[in-house]
Amino acid sequence: MGYLDGFRVTFKKLFEFPRLTRSYVKNEGGKREKPERLHGRHVLNRYEDGMEKCIGCELCAGVCPARCIYVRGADNPLDNPVSPGERYGFIYEINYLRCIHCDLCVEACPTEAITESKLFEFSFTNRSDAIYTKAELVVGDDGRPKQLPWEDWTDIDAVEANTSAWMRATAPNGAAEFEGIVAWAGELGYGVKPAEQGQSVDAPATPAESEPEPAEEPADDEHAGEHH
Ligand code: SF4
Ligand code: SF4
Repeated sequence: MGYLDGFRVTFKKLFEFPRLTRSYVKNEGGKREKPERLHGRHVLNRYEDGMEKCIGCELCAGVCPARCIYVRGADNPLDNPVSPGERYGFIYEINYLRCIHCDLCVEACPTEAITESKLFEFSFTNRSDAIYTKAELVVGDDGRPKQLPWEDWTDIDAVEANTSAWMRATAPNGAAEFEGIVAWAGELGYGVKPAEQGQSVDAPATPAESEPEPAEEPADDEHAGEHH
């Protein structure tokens, strides 16, 4: 009879008034502030010349703990290559019913092809919509993600600048000595993104706040009088 305990809550709520159904808050001040490094839905990036960065190596699929990426590589057509190098991502799919947005695929990718945007407001009415295909994931001719019918882009102004590559905020290999050094490729529509400053306690918040170089001291008092 233990299962009846569950119904106690149901019946209690049945006679509670007023009954409230809260609408999705959109931009009415009800949304919580997003973390700076929110992991949203992925994009497949392109180089500044429009070539796709994905080389179909399948490392992202291999590392994914949720097994939600399906990739197939193919040889680049010699007369019209899709990506630099031998191969490109011929098929690329991510199943968002399984993805846990851990970002391991982004870490594994050798060409920065797959990155996570800040877009997270999407809902599906069928399973096939939840499986994003390559055509849906690859950025458009302006370098921006493609908006799909079931995605809410109300906040796009706030997230547009970060629709790719949150990882570029940190050192490319995580080592402190590389902090602030740009070591990544440019991307279509954005060029080469600058490194984010202020990542460690020793780093200045912005380049403008750096300490000025100390003026060179004269070698000795005798020569000091010669300078005006
Ligand atoms: S974010 Fe994590 S779970 Fe999602 S596709 Fe990438 S590796 Fe898989
Ligand atoms: S997204 Fe990156 S890791 Fe995945 S197949 Fe393409 S190049 Fe390889």
